[in-house]
Amino acid sequence: MRIFTAALATETNTFSPICIDKRAFEASLYAPPGAHPETPTLCTAPITVGRQVAAEKGWQLIEGTAAWADPAGLVNRQTYEDLRDEIVDQLRAALPVDAVVLGLHGAMVADGYEDTEGDLLARIREIIGPDVLLCAELDPHSHLTDKRVAAADFFVFFKEFPHTDFVDRAKDLWRIAVDTLEGRVKPVMSVFDCRMIDVFPTSREPMRSFVDKLMRIEKDDADVLSLSVVHGFMAGDVPEMGTKMIAVTDGNREKGQALASALGLELFAKRGTYRMPEIDERRAVAEAIAATAGPVVIADMWDNPGGGTAGDATVVLEELLASGVADAAIGTIWDPMAVQICMAAGEGAEIPLRFGAKSAPGTGSPIDGTVKVINLVRNAEMRFGESFAPFGDAAHICYRGIDIILNSTRAQSFDPSLFSVMGIDPRSKKILVIKSTNHFFASFSKIASKILYCSAGTPYPNDPAKTPYRRARRDIWPIIADPHTPKRGAA
Ligand SMILES: [Zn+2]
Repeated sequence: MRIFTAALATETNTFSPICIDKRAFEASLYAPPGAHPETPTLCTAPITVGRQVAAEKGWQLIEGTAAWADPAGLVNRQTYEDLRDEIVDQLRAALPVDAVVLGLHGAMVADGYEDTEGDLLARIREIIGPDVLLCAELDPHSHLTDKRVAAADFFVFFKEFPHTDFVDRAKDLWRIAVDTLEGRVKPVMSVFDCRMIDVFPTSREPMRSFVDKLMRIEKDDADVLSLSVVHGFMAGDVPEMGTKMIAVTDGNREKGQALASALGLELFAKRGTYRMPEIDERRAVAEAIAATAGPVVIADMWDNPGGGTAGDATVVLEELLASGVADAAIGTIWDPMAVQICMAAGEGAEIPLRFGAKSAPGTGSPIDGTVKVINLVRNAEMRFGESFAPFGDAAHICYRGIDIILNSTRAQSFDPSLFSVMGIDPRSKKILVIKSTNHFFASFSKIASKILYCSAGTPYPNDPAKTPYRRARRDIWPIIADPHTPKRGAA
């Protein structure tokens, strides 16, 4: 067997001020054929797992380019077209192939392309013809368009949010691909439109039980090859935004459709109950101060660079300063200009500095003051599961007793090691402020005495009922109350 694999992924918050070009991919991951590292990045596990599968089977894996950019705003048109054409040309050169196995995200929007993944998949289908297997692993924070469903044989999405299972789901993808190529199964994909948009953390109920149920069905029912919830991505203002349910069955479209509908309606029935309870910055800081033990983790959950924001909001910091808190550390505030100034000043220097809140409205004001430069690290990295996440040149500064990490590559706060690599012992602090919606949970819950989900300022369009969408559909909950019941009197 000859199998082509490649990855092209980012998550586009169309409301974000941070546009991205080729350099953003190079800063996160740009690996030409064969250059992909041994450990996977979020959306490139099909490549690393594919290497293992190919080695075991004695099959030939032809690697194309793998490119991943950290979530941000609109992708530069030329950048998308160049990366797409690079992969498509590599595939053409690799023909004939028996299968194409891709790592995608599913929420990339480029200037001029609302559905980049649909565009890429349709072009690949045209090249390989109708009979060659085409499948992909994707992030559930994505848009499942008709174009993608028409082009691919099947998709497998991560089930967990935080996405702790991207390697396991790549293994599912390859298991189904191998079984298909060896003639044991015929995957058929059925989709149900839940007509809603929500946030579905699996670290809490009711989503935890729902995902457990999906995995039980997959295990118990031989007809069911894979079940996925496409959560949808509310910060992507595109026509097919929303939550979808996928059932991949062994040739049983009718059963798959019935199962996807039943599960999708079950998901819809609990709408509005999935999100974690959110509190504002005043209550978060007050509760953290009142706690008897540390560290209390305040997640500045909507200023999450992982959701495409700048990650430079100062709203929670301002509240800490106003409350006179000193035993606190903040990781991180994105400000490459301030980092550059700190690097020039050197460790130990006390300098006047303006930092933070320079990118978007609703994120507080820049902080002006005299800071002490404590520690400088070039090309800093934190752990993320089995891999590493870079956060660029970084400066640990101290301002009015608070330890603050300024970074130059936007990165969400995945792991407490982001503090330790900067010389701050995260366990020794009463309060840790981090920028992440939920990915932090797996690692920070191991050291936190308490976790507070804080909605501070308006860095992210987190209320779909109020978000000024221009392109997204309006016929979904919570924009309308009950999209599944036709209006009385409607034709
Ligand atoms: Zn995601």
